[in-house]
Amino acid sequence: MHPQAKKSIPDGLSRLPVYMDHHATTPVDPRVVEAMLPYFNEHFGNAASIDHEYGAEAAHAVEEARAQVARLIKARPDEIIFTSGATESDNLAILGAAGQYSKKGRHIITCVTEHKAVLDSCQFLADGGWKITYLPVDPYGLVNPNDLRGAITNETVLISVMAANNEIGTIAGIADIGRIAHECEVLFHTDATQAVGYLDLDVEAMGIDLLSLSAHKIYGPQGVGALFVRKRQPRVRLQPQVHGGGHQRGIRSGTLNLPGIVGLGRAADLARKEREVEAKRVGGLRDRLLDRLKSELDCVELNGHASERLPNNLSVALAGIESRSLLVQLKHDVALSTGSACTTAKVEPSHVILALGFGETRAHQSVRFGLGRENTEADVDFVVAKLSAGVRRLRQFAVA
Ligand SMILES: *Cc1c(COP(=O)(O)O)cnc(C)c1O
Repeated sequence: MHPQAKKSIPDGLSRLPVYMDHHATTPVDPRVVEAMLPYFNEHFGNAASIDHEYGAEAAHAVEEARAQVARLIKARPDEIIFTSGATESDNLAILGAAGQYSKKGRHIITCVTEHKAVLDSCQFLADGGWKITYLPVDPYGLVNPNDLRGAITNETVLISVMAANNEIGTIAGIADIGRIAHECEVLFHTDATQAVGYLDLDVEAMGIDLLSLSAHKIYGPQGVGALFVRKRQPRVRLQPQVHGGGHQRGIRSGTLNLPGIVGLGRAADLARKEREVEAKRVGGLRDRLLDRLKSELDCVELNGHASERLPNNLSVALAGIESRSLLVQLKHDVALSTGSACTTAKVEPSHVILALGFGETRAHQSVRFGLGRENTEADVDFVVAKLSAGVRRLRQFAVA
């Protein structure tokens, strides 16, 4: 039972404060919790210690989860490497490919709106003498494929462009990028952490060589994720970033997080089976949210693309207010974000909104809604009412 259950929650609300920050993390689905529980103290074996039944059981559960994750992105089970999350997956993909292929050249192409896990991994390489090209985006957050083509040289080892943006929800033309990468024989990595829960990704059809994902963005537990590493056409090799007992083909050593991996597998399974229906449902809620906000308030500007957008994402700039003050005011009613959680420790305008070219003011006026599996219509109406009242109050003060 949620602690909030003691407070009285208005009719139809999922919880209070209403949670609309699902890009930052998601609550673990009860079905995932249920799948995980036996792996803490019943089937608790070490998947690498298979001389007895406990270890064999653990190894079996890990292989089942590998198959479940593979199915989500149409990969093969032996192409899935478990990690501690998408941050580690991004690091492993970028630093691992750089370490392995530096003889070809020392150039990587990425994009200005990437997650910090990608940008900071690239910065680390830049500090070591690598050349990094940061592709710009258009005002909707899309990369121009011609810019990509123009940036590729004989020295380019890797292209890293995210499948869907965690702040503005823009969905990239991944298949086009994959085609260009393969025509030019450059490896293609995509951070699909936000995408896999809603989009039907196919690593084969989309020419993806490396793909990062994370359990806690798809209703699984925090601290576990995966990296897809293509095994044929081409066979991708990565320099390990964590050294040890040679687990997972030597690419990522360390005793596996068994309950976490079981949870990721179950979460992937649920996402695959339910995402099509859920995308429609949550997309409907998101559209309702935008419509109502626009009818309640003037000067609501959409950040990102109107249609090439994750169904659970809404990012808007609210002219005349400072989004940080607004969210503090609303904190007992609704959990929203001004940008990505990873940069909110520092009060800096979002690098993603800035990259769209609208300036700092707009970045400070932006609010991100991340809807999710448990949100209801009543949640949307409640959030619109609270937020509109909050915005009107702040705008009044600004005028007075
Ligand atoms: C959340 C997120 C990450 C980081 O994932 P962790 O599992 O928390 O390390 C990386 N990329 C994107 C796009 C994300 O949304």
